[in-house]
Amino acid sequence: MSKKLGLYIHIPFCSKKCPYCDFFSKCKDDKEIEIYSNELLKSIKYWSNNTDRAITSIYFGGGTPNILGIDNLCKVLSEIYKNFTVDKNAEITTELNPTNSNFIEFKKLFDAGFNRLSFGMQSINDDELKILNREHKSENVKVVIEKARNAGFKNISLDLMLGIPKQTKSSLTKSIKFCKDCHVEHISAYILKVEENTPFYKNQRVLNIPDSDTQADLYLLACQELEKAGYYQYEISNFSKRGFESKHNLTYWECEEYIGIGPSAHSFYKGKRFYYPRSFKDFYNNKITADGLGGDENEYIMLNLRLTKGINFKDFEKRFSKKFNSNIINKARTYEKNGFISFTESGMHLTKKGFLVSNYIIADLI
Ligand code: SF4
Repeated sequence: MSKKLGLYIHIPFCSKKCPYCDFFSKCKDDKEIEIYSNELLKSIKYWSNNTDRAITSIYFGGGTPNILGIDNLCKVLSEIYKNFTVDKNAEITTELNPTNSNFIEFKKLFDAGFNRLSFGMQSINDDELKILNREHKSENVKVVIEKARNAGFKNISLDLMLGIPKQTKSSLTKSIKFCKDCHVEHISAYILKVEENTPFYKNQRVLNIPDSDTQADLYLLACQELEKAGYYQYEISNFSKRGFESKHNLTYWECEEYIGIGPSAHSFYKGKRFYYPRSFKDFYNNKITADGLGGDENEYIMLNLRLTKGINFKDFEKRFSKKFNSNIINKARTYEKNGFISFTESGMHLTKKGFLVSNYIIADLI
């Protein structure tokens, strides 16, 4: 087992709830934010006393981490440094909304040790941002990127949403061109998934959400345009300039271990999976729910097939001390004939066409 260990910190607050979002987050509440910040510090202490490995990546996600306040975020990171051993090359990311952060705030984050920012841009078209009920406008994105660059950030990621109502091939191409012109290092391009219990779910008929064929067209267009713009695809939904793959997210997909702190945060540590329920109270009471053993062969295959490099048979053999299952290879050969899977000398991987139906193929293989 490799020595990688990711640390995820969940910040469950947003200034308002986006109508498509099912993440565990609550609208800004100053009193709760204060309590939560203190509880986070306690939880960091708890986990540092129960962890004997160095942290190789840290990721603040949400929610909207900046709602906690930049000083609070820096304080939480400083507590992590005080309590854990953090690898000197650790990637330290925080998600941010591209609203109104100023230069001084970016400088504080940079000086505190954050070295990567991930902005929830989604689109550069104001009519699409309006449908998503996002707080920012297209003009904000360029400004925050410039400020972040001036503060010293050399690793910036943008989220791009595919399949937004009214999105067209041309509006998506415009968003991708914007990413390219801003020279960001990384792009996460996710297809909008309409989650139950969200306003989008209730209103999906009137919203005119693109059907799965249109979504597939937009996805394939994004893959093609992003590659043309110099971003290579390394995972189903993730693209980067070479050397700027998200180290933290690779920890998940390569079936390495991580600890998640905060309500709804999941962990995989010492071979076990567990999580905090979606409840502030449970988190404050350190109520952790067991979720069985993790990291078995099937899970390893399922996660690695999300990556464009796919499964390397030698790595599999090394990890599990056995040959890769020939029944799976035989099944995969039938998908190869239809262009969904490709074999190389060292292993096999899903093709772009395969990524579109990855859940189905992976479930069938394992
Ligand atoms: S800002 Fe992000 S986490 Fe918050 S509601 Fe919107 S999509 Fe969800």
